[in-house]
Amino acid sequence: MPASSPADQEHTKLIKARLSYPIKQCRHCGFAAVVKNGFRKAYVHLPSLNGIHYELELWKQRYYCRQCQTTFGATTNLTTNNQTLSGQ
Ligand SMILES: [Zn+2]
Repeated sequence: MPASSPADQEHTKLIKARLSYPIKQCRHCGFAAVVKNGFRKAYVHLPSLNGIHYELELWKQRYYCRQCQTTFGATTNLTTNNQTLSGQ
């Protein structure tokens, strides 16, 4: 690593991940006809380590239930509580 690199440059490491798993039943009505409905991108800020910020670009699988016509996304404990998902 060259010593002449700008010191005020923020070190952020972007990690790309995809969250998808098969769902047998609708989360809302329990109906067993859930179809995949594309991916939705979310950003998760991870704890810094050694002055490097880690940001997770997470593509979460969306699901659609034909019975109750609701959509819902794959969940992970990375995005609970004080995490803010990007819009929409
Ligand atoms: Zn349903």
